[in-house]
Amino acid sequence: MEIGVGISSPPSLRSDATSAAHAETTPDSWRHSLAEAVRDPAELIELLQLPTSLIEPARRVAEHFPLIVPRSFLARMTPGDVSDPLLRQVLPLEAELSMEAGFASDPVGDGDARVAPGLLHKYEGRALLIAAGACAVHCRYCFRRHYAYNEEPRRLEDWEPALAALREDTSITEVILSGGDPLVLSDRRLSVLFERLAEIDHLRRIRIHSRLPIVLPNRVTRTLLELLQQAERQTLFVVHANHPHEIADDCREALRMLVAGGIPTLNQAVLLRGVNDSVEALAELSLRLVDIGIFPYYLHQLDRVQGAAHFEVSEAEGRALIDALRARLPGYAVPRFVREIPGAPSKTPLEMNP
Ligand SMILES: *Cc1c(COP(=O)(O)O)cnc(C)c1O
Ligand code: SF4
Repeated sequence: MEIGVGISSPPSLRSDATSAAHAETTPDSWRHSLAEAVRDPAELIELLQLPTSLIEPARRVAEHFPLIVPRSFLARMTPGDVSDPLLRQVLPLEAELSMEAGFASDPVGDGDARVAPGLLHKYEGRALLIAAGACAVHCRYCFRRHYAYNEEPRRLEDWEPALAALREDTSITEVILSGGDPLVLSDRRLSVLFERLAEIDHLRRIRIHSRLPIVLPNRVTRTLLELLQQAERQTLFVVHANHPHEIADDCREALRMLVAGGIPTLNQAVLLRGVNDSVEALAELSLRLVDIGIFPYYLHQLDRVQGAAHFEVSEAEGRALIDALRARLPGYAVPRFVREIPGAPSKTPLEMNP
């Protein structure tokens, strides 16, 4: 039963899926890629021919928040370059251990917004499900790096209180599947979740927030695409890439599949010191995305989570970068520069509040 309940495709689509499956080896090859992801700092450092002095601190820091890097993502890094912008996003550094004033374990008020296990409700009309506690990559700047995922639902029946809360609140018209990364769930689990959500009449859209098309591109399979296309609600996709080097090779192909499959797809990025704090990096990221048909959505000011202070770029610098982008790019290629302020009714635009 590799195709989940509720997914019945016409014969033409099925044969299509079979021929595409050759190109992507097997529909489940992403599971193998995930299992094979690099988790030992020594291996990462050896594969990239970096100084071995980086191993000991990386191991120590990874005890708090483990290292995970899929090999596809690693292949887009430049060997020998300690300041590679992709490496910087995943390599545990000593700096993560320093306690900085103003940096907290829950900087965005997720705890206060939790209305049921696994369900966060902050904004009018939209609610967010912590659909999975795992990710295929550990981004060192992640604002949920201290999130208590172990207290969130795992088995299907654990989702009942969240589904009941969604059923009761008719003001909620959109559900965002987030995490963690919702695409670490199997297609079967996802399709059951989609079905359960489709039972709630007032839900009109399902949005997926996932970094997997970027870091583990073979997760975008025909089966997944069919699930999204055949869902009884409009589905939207928001991927997460921060630097133009991420949009390459197999990742570009996966993104093209989403767009060709008719799924509206946007990108969100985080403004990160040493990664994308230049107009060149941000402009090229936007252009690579729009050339595929994906539009920049948000550029997030870093959430001040403990352990990520070394990634912070000031708001003033961020505003100057956005101004420079606007002078260079078509309007549709300029993301909205926002920050999350706990208790605010939406992400807060930073461009209009100098
Ligand atoms: C960011 C966020 C959303 C989505 O906000 P949009 O502006 O619609 O993209 C929804 N719920 C929560 C809890 C969020 O943090
Ligand atoms: S993929 Fe998203 S949730 Fe997972 S570690 Fe990265 S930023 Fe955090």
